[in-house]
Amino acid sequence: MLADALREAAAAGVRVVAIELGRWQGRPLLAEFDPAAKIIGIDRKVVERLRAAGDGEFANRFVAFAIWHELYHVRYSTRDERAAHEYASARTGVAAALFENVVREFQR
Ligand SMILES: [Zn+2]
Repeated sequence: MLADALREAAAAGVRVVAIELGRWQGRPLLAEFDPAAKIIGIDRKVVERLRAAGDGEFANRFVAFAIWHELYHVRYSTRDERAAHEYASARTGVAAALFENVVREFQR
């Protein structure tokens, strides 16, 4: 699953790195695409917290969701968040609502 997302990113010429993303408008950032560098950054702390919560498989699917969400923006050059969520959901089996709930947990 995560390997598939990473392969697809590589095929699109995009590198995926774990970094410290910090906060944006008071909320922790989860994932970000840098179009100039062609890099998708996934927040290291979010991934660590997910793994620490004890479900490595879900952590991997969650990260895969975030990668595919960003890849959708890369591929179709659109900021359509709902479409990006649907794209990621179809590939990971993680419901967009569940993804959002987990994101909210990190935003407290
Ligand atoms: Zn997005």
